Amino acid sequence: MAEKRWIPETLFDDLGFRMTFEVERVLYEMQTEHQHLVLFEQRHFGKILMLDGATQVTTADEFIYHEMMTHVPILAHGKAEEVLIVGGGDCGIAEEVLKHKTVKRLTQVEIDASVVEFSKEHFPEFTGPVLKDKRFDLIIDDGIKYVKQTDRRFDVIIVDSTDPQGPGIVLFSPEFYTGCKRCMKKGGVMVTQNGVPFYQPEELTKSINKFRKLWNDGFCYVAAIPTYVGGHLAMGWATDNKKMRQTPVKTIAQRYAKAGKFKTKYWSPEVHAAAFALPRFIAEHVAMAKG
Ligand code: SAM
Repeated sequence: MAEKRWIPETLFDDLGFRMTFEVERVLYEMQTEHQHLVLFEQRHFGKILMLDGATQVTTADEFIYHEMMTHVPILAHGKAEEVLIVGGGDCGIAEEVLKHKTVKRLTQVEIDASVVEFSKEHFPEFTGPVLKDKRFDLIIDDGIKYVKQTDRRFDVIIVDSTDPQGPGIVLFSPEFYTGCKRCMKKGGVMVTQNGVPFYQPEELTKSINKFRKLWNDGFCYVAAIPTYVGGHLAMGWATDNKKMRQTPVKTIAQRYAKAGKFKTKYWSPEVHAAAFALPRFIAEHVAMAKG
């Protein structure tokens, strides 16, 4: 019997720590123009996509991140019509955004066409509904270039990026956030994938510093995602409307009912509000951000 292959998550090598998955079957592996991509089957987590050694999405727990990165900003905003996703190649985020009938157009700017291409075959549960939705507009480009030059304006910007390595580094830069501010409509909000504070606390403080230089309110909210190992994942929050993240549960629930009360497995109006109540050690990293 051939030796089972094990694939490690190498994102935390600088901490001397790896999480490793025993592989049932590799479905796709290539060095794209931008990054190393491997998609494999794992007996507990289903399909796992890794880019440059960092777990991106698993079919077992994708719903947590995809629901929290979309329903929170869209229902907190309340009147989102134009939404931008930067990154998001697997289309899991896009699938959740398009459940909101108020959204008139969803623009997605993804740098690596290969990620979208193989997601068509391997994540049809995401790409199926998305690619046939007339509101969806996919652009293959570097997100930092796009936000600097687009003439479109957005109510919600979702930065579903990889970690600050490889092509994703630029999506954590002041230049990128300045571009996001430029193409954000008045009263808009940006959310970002901002890493696991237990392992990457300085990344969170630095990001919030950059947000506060451009917006009145730079903050974060959290969710526990099993395969983004290390406890809470922080999702960055940037808007000029300081009240937006304190939208009452009742208002969120009313908006959710109006949006069609689609099925969710993690997000709820109560979980939405609670996500901004930060554990002390995370709140301290946010408080260190001066802006
Ligand atoms: N949910 C995942 C996470 O939290 O790490 C992210 C999922 S998605 C696969 C990340 C996407 O960002 C990838 O498809 C990658 O190609 C894309 N990406 C990385 N750098 C980018 C850039 N500069 N512009 C646009 N897309 C980028």
